[in-house]
Amino acid sequence: MEVEQLACMLRERILPEPHHFVLKGDGEYHLQNGSRLCVHAPEEACSEAVRLLGKYWGITADITREACVAEVSGEAYRIDITPNCLTIEAATIAGLRHAFRTLRMLVEPERGTRQLSGTWILPEVTIEDAPALAFRGLHLCVFPENRFEDLAKKVHYAAYLKFNVIVMEFWGTFPFESHPELCWEGVPGTREQWAELIREMRESEGVTLVPQFNVLGHAPNSRGGTAQHVVLNRHPELEPLFEPDGWCWCLTNPHTRKLLDEAVCELHDFFGRPPYFHIGCDEADSVGLCSECRKHPIADLICNHITHFRDLFAARGARVIMWHDMLLNRSDKRWEHYCAMGRDYQHLENLHKHIPHDTIIADWEYGYRFDQIPGEVTYPTTLFFKANGFDTLVCPWRKLDVIRSLGALARREKLFGMLETTWHIFYGPEMKRMFYETAQAAWGITHGEEFHQTTMDRAWRTVVKDLGLQNYNDLGVSDCQIIPQTFGSLG
Ligand SMILES: [Zn+2]
Repeated sequence: MEVEQLACMLRERILPEPHHFVLKGDGEYHLQNGSRLCVHAPEEACSEAVRLLGKYWGITADITREACVAEVSGEAYRIDITPNCLTIEAATIAGLRHAFRTLRMLVEPERGTRQLSGTWILPEVTIEDAPALAFRGLHLCVFPENRFEDLAKKVHYAAYLKFNVIVMEFWGTFPFESHPELCWEGVPGTREQWAELIREMRESEGVTLVPQFNVLGHAPNSRGGTAQHVVLNRHPELEPLFEPDGWCWCLTNPHTRKLLDEAVCELHDFFGRPPYFHIGCDEADSVGLCSECRKHPIADLICNHITHFRDLFAARGARVIMWHDMLLNRSDKRWEHYCAMGRDYQHLENLHKHIPHDTIIADWEYGYRFDQIPGEVTYPTTLFFKANGFDTLVCPWRKLDVIRSLGALARREKLFGMLETTWHIFYGPEMKRMFYETAQAAWGITHGEEFHQTTMDRAWRTVVKDLGLQNYNDLGVSDCQIIPQTFGSLG
């Protein structure tokens, strides 16, 4: 095989692909008990390297540590492999972990044996790599229909693909102690399971799990169209907490504010007080319409509400993230073909001037109407929030060209980061493509648009193995390979 072809093939084993990958020769490094490993990294990196060598390959290496070099900073890492030594350079534990994930994807077991021999082969390469975006996020939903094992797999998979923030939105599925009425029966995961996942991500993977609770609309905590309502179906006596249609919380009711405060504080505490909290705030069509709320301008009610939660979380050392769409008027021609949900009668066009400017704006643009745009897709909504001084996250969904172009926008405009939403596209090949494209975009890889399914599947099996999953329905990216059908009697 041509050297260039071989280098390309080896590089494509790594997800996302590293920026700089050079095959130096045809020598091999044997990763096994007693191998030489040189780590140029902070002091605490040694114990992390020992842990990862044990976890990934079950080996103990001969590690020497030196101070890290100046050129490698932040989450960047460098790997140099010769037949005699494996050298890893990283200025942070995050960088060291990325290097180990890369090695795990690159490595292959010793050839010619029936079973793993305890020796792994690494090619003679140099790798230099760094993420393009500091905030590389994934938004995952927890529906009553999900199983905890499924969610845990996806969280671990995202960590392996070098995401570093995961926003968890519970759809009536978080087992609140303060407000059990906010949770359906038989939900996925116990408090203990969630706490363990959050802790493991924080301590062992460097991934921050961020809770979301919708404090404005989406109050049923159920998908629009199903008519299910986590509170009102079982507690109709609590109707005054909501606007008359049940979709939005009633912003003038002090009992609503008290419930929301207790719920969001419990969630934030449960997640270990992370530096962000997502307050939702999208698609709040019926906000401010009850007989008490409509005595006030809707913009004032929403501004007061957002400012309240901003202050609440600021006192806890955290920033709020909110969806952008209620801050833009849908009839405004500037946002034509893009996402804006404010209605004329709500007069929300100046709301962005009054909400606290350290609110992080999550601009979800899914490309629903991009085919009608003459010329380039320019993302005027995102640029608007940036121009108004907001830290802004780009949030694509399932359209792969939108994931790529929003990633490019975030990199070019030096935005706050990227938050890929998944909603109910939670299974199968489409989910894999969304994870893959976002990981590539957030890392700044623009050339590798070919999808390497078997590489993604190898990474998936690695995660499944780590989790110790054994049951057939837990092993794949979908529960099963075909949708089971009942044909009834054939006689
Ligand atoms: Zn009201």
